[in-house]
Amino acid sequence: MSSTSDDGGETIESIRSRHRDAAADVVPEHTQLYIGGEWQDAASGETFDTLNPTTGEVLASVARGGEADIDRAVEAAWDAYDEEWSETSRAERQALLTEIADRVEEHQEELATLETLDNGKTLMEARMDVGGVAEQFRFFAGATNSQSGHTRDEPGVHGEVIREPYGVVGQIIPWNFPLAMASWKLAPALAAGNCSVLKPAEQTPLSVLRFLEIVDDVVPDGVVNVVTGYGEEAGDPLSRHEGVRKLAFTGSTAVGKQIMRNAAENVTDVTLELGGKSPIVVHADADPEEAVGVIAMAIFANTGECCEAGSRLFVHDDVAEPILEGLIGAAEGMTVGDPLKEETDVGPKVSQEQVDRTMDYLERAKEGGATFLAGGDAPDDEALSNGCFVTPTLVEGLDHDHEAVQEEIFGPVLEVFRWDDYDEMMTLANDVDYGLAGGVITNDLELADRTARDIEAGYIWVNTWHEMSPGLPYGGYKQSGIGRELSVETLDYYTQAKSVKYGLD
Ligand code: NDP
Repeated sequence: MSSTSDDGGETIESIRSRHRDAAADVVPEHTQLYIGGEWQDAASGETFDTLNPTTGEVLASVARGGEADIDRAVEAAWDAYDEEWSETSRAERQALLTEIADRVEEHQEELATLETLDNGKTLMEARMDVGGVAEQFRFFAGATNSQSGHTRDEPGVHGEVIREPYGVVGQIIPWNFPLAMASWKLAPALAAGNCSVLKPAEQTPLSVLRFLEIVDDVVPDGVVNVVTGYGEEAGDPLSRHEGVRKLAFTGSTAVGKQIMRNAAENVTDVTLELGGKSPIVVHADADPEEAVGVIAMAIFANTGECCEAGSRLFVHDDVAEPILEGLIGAAEGMTVGDPLKEETDVGPKVSQEQVDRTMDYLERAKEGGATFLAGGDAPDDEALSNGCFVTPTLVEGLDHDHEAVQEEIFGPVLEVFRWDDYDEMMTLANDVDYGLAGGVITNDLELADRTARDIEAGYIWVNTWHEMSPGLPYGGYKQSGIGRELSVETLDYYTQAKSVKYGLD
């Protein structure tokens, strides 16, 4: 029942050798903190290792930032804001963001390779991510021009609303889309006129550091500051800092709640993009072959490490057999292996900790009576035994209130439920704390519209998944978050309204 692993004569050593060669070309020269436009050691002088999840080898040692470094970074950001950045025009910010996009495109292959080495995603997925990074900066370069206030006139008085940046924002990002998440945070923050202190995830700091090497000469000193380190040591003080006027976070709901509690101390505004447990609703009229393609992409892309992954499948009885058969074939036919190889479909998870977490859920699912239709184990290939691999997995027979169904597994694990009564199915589809995304597969426009409206989530796909071009707001209902990213309205989350009233008599 396990998927194809790409042994092709590979050994642990041949994979390691390929990765060492790639790393020699792309790992950044600077692995310190980036504060006030300078590379600096952590105040403690300490570092931590970032590992390659394919080989288990150390890629680099990175500065382990802490509270003193966050203080320095926030101060540098305010200096930059007060001395220069708050005076920039829209046109200047637009030019900067456009230049950043150009630089990212020039370095696309190098950044993608680095992302693959540090995160484990396939090179194809990493290339798409980096393309999206450039797109993000270009989108917000344009969006700066759509920022506008409004006026309200009455006899003898003129009122106007202007929007002003917060000044310094704190941004904390996860490891599943390291550079993409950095761009989702930095592009709108800068476009709106803020300076940033950004904390990348401990598992994947390298692409953000290389990005800063690439744009160092175009971004004014202190406008972007990066403090690498652990959540408790660097993220926590950032989220509590009095000098931070706005917090933006992507990650787990548990940490999101902690960030929100910390933010309450200083009444700091927060944007949170948290977890998901998205339902895929398949109607009786769905074409099985097309449905299988959409579903496999929804759950297995990026090794299932997507907050918007379609992880609960609600398939109508009439099409369940052919679709499940197709999905088993798709899962077992995927090539699990070295993400640097073009033919690989599924790379490793980001860390052993994440493998253990997924396996723990699968163990509990087994105890809960689940039937494994595919996967559920590590690939049977000695060459991959040092990596963090999990095979694409299909599970059926769990109660919907089981913890493996209710909680985010964040791995290549799809849970299957069959239905024939729409209302009962929709009750279950919405019976989770999350509400980030959802999807529907049908050729009936009315059914698509009804289901899209019935799913309690912030983003719905019809006959597709993961498509998220900038322009449509992205964010969650319920415990999946607060605020919206990816769209013009994101600028509102990085600015505050000021009303000005003129007495004219
Ligand atoms: P976290 O929520 O812990 O990590 C996200 C970011 O928050 C990282 O930069 C992390 O730092 C930081 N962080 C952690 N603790 C704190 C804190 N107390 N204060 C401030 N910042 C903090 O996710 P995990 O990496 O632990 O993953 C756990 C689960 O979360 C996953 O299995 C998945 O279910 C979910 N998740 C959801 C994501 C999404 O896109 N919605 C993304 C990632 C995870 P550091 O990593 O350095 O500790």
